[in-house]
Amino acid sequence: MSLARLEAEPRAVPAARRARIIALANQKGGVGKTTTAINLATALAAVGHRVLLIDLDPQGNASTGLGVERPARAVTSYELILGEAELDHAVVSTDIPRLAIVPASQDLAGAELELAARERREFLLSRAIRSRVRDYDEVLVDCPPSLNLLTINALVAADSVLVPLQCEFYALEGLSQLIRTIERVQRALNPRLDLQGVLLTMYDQRNNLSDQVAADVRGHFGARVFDTMIPRNVRIAEAPSHGKPVLIYDHGCAGRRPISGSPPRYCAAAERRHPQWFRPAGLHNE
Ligand code: ADP
Ligand code: MG
Repeated sequence: MSLARLEAEPRAVPAARRARIIALANQKGGVGKTTTAINLATALAAVGHRVLLIDLDPQGNASTGLGVERPARAVTSYELILGEAELDHAVVSTDIPRLAIVPASQDLAGAELELAARERREFLLSRAIRSRVRDYDEVLVDCPPSLNLLTINALVAADSVLVPLQCEFYALEGLSQLIRTIERVQRALNPRLDLQGVLLTMYDQRNNLSDQVAADVRGHFGARVFDTMIPRNVRIAEAPSHGKPVLIYDHGCAGRRPISGSPPRYCAAAERRHPQWFRPAGLHNE
């Protein structure tokens, strides 16, 4: 297949009339992709946006974190990406108003081989969702911890990619490989893909290393790094086991104090970069 053909992949719907699709990607596991996906999705829904989260990780942590039990995962992102189900049939509503999810199943772990045999295998997710997400303002795609075909599919379907980066010693390791992959996708498969930004996660203000890592990452990526950092916070870690995003979980557990502290940072991170997303209400200024 020639590159010219790939580049000519038509846009079925004008950009203004469909959702912004954001992939959350980093081939490292445990850096906060899923946590960011769940909480950013919830934050956006909380300020009035219609949000769809697509769980593209066979581990299904986003599905679990939003309280979608396994029996409710009848039709999943596996069937969606293989073209065996329409988007509408794969979407499950959540307890959060305006937030829906396409859950993942473990079948997705074997999808790599099945995808590899398909024609235009990098475009399968794009084809399955791009012209069908008009009902949403944002679609977030939670990628697996790998630069495999699933992640490539997410990058090809997306308008932008958000890279969560954990504030730890090896934070920058592997990042150049991710950036090269993004650039390759931009060149050959999806010229409109934008680097939304790098989001520093699990920042610990009591730890000098966190500051060093943050300074290092900002040195490399400058304005591409969100000003807002997500602090390390036990409530963020606990929330998924309750099947709730931390915005809701913390609100319910903290003696009715107003939502404060770390959770709104998910909003702030997006808001500073894209104030227009938050036009309906500026709820979450810290
Ligand atoms: P990924 O999707 O990149 O693998 P996760 O979002 O699942 O990463 O996060 C990895 C682990 O770290 C999870 O147990 C999660 O609950 C925890 N975690 C994520 N963000 C935070 C945070 N800001 N504070 C404390 N724990 C966090
Ligand atoms: Mg994850």
